[in-house]
Amino acid sequence: MNCYKADPVSRENIRRFIRGLKRKVGLEYELYFPILPFVENVLPILIPDFQFEVVPVIEMGGKHGETYPSKNIMRIREDVYLRAAAGEGRDRLTIAHEVGHLFMHEDDSIALCRLAPNEQLKPFEDPEWQADAFGGELLASSYLIKGMKRN
Ligand SMILES: [Zn+2]
Repeated sequence: MNCYKADPVSRENIRRFIRGLKRKVGLEYELYFPILPFVENVLPILIPDFQFEVVPVIEMGGKHGETYPSKNIMRIREDVYLRAAAGEGRDRLTIAHEVGHLFMHEDDSIALCRLAPNEQLKPFEDPEWQADAFGGELLASSYLIKGMKRN
C-alpha cells in the first residue's frame, strides 16, 4: 500500500509551535480561536503570497478542503466555509486542519512510502494525524484547557 509519510512531529512539538504562533499574533490567551479571521486576515501577513480560495461545491466535489503548502494555497469548499463562519465546530476544525498542512507539510517534508500489508504508519509520521493534532490544538489549546474547571 502506498502512503504519504511526513517528517516525524510529536504532539509536544505541535503544542509548542501553536503556542508560539498564537503568542505572535496576540491570541495566546484567547479561548475561542477566530479561525476564519485568522486565515483571511492574519495568514496573508505571516505568509505574503498566501492565497485562500472558497470553491463552489460542484467544483470541489467530495473534498472539504485542500492545501498546497509549497505554493501557499488553501482551498475550502464553499459550504464548509459558510458553516465555519456560522461557528460549526466540525467545519472550523476542517479549516484548522488545513492550516496544519500549510505550516507543516512543504513538499520536502513528505515522502511517498510503501507499507507492507501488516505495517502501519506511525501516527506521528502520518501527515493527516499531524494535521488533525494541529487543528485540534489550534482551536482548543491544551495549555488553556488544562487547569480549566467545570462549574
Ligand atoms: Zn488533511
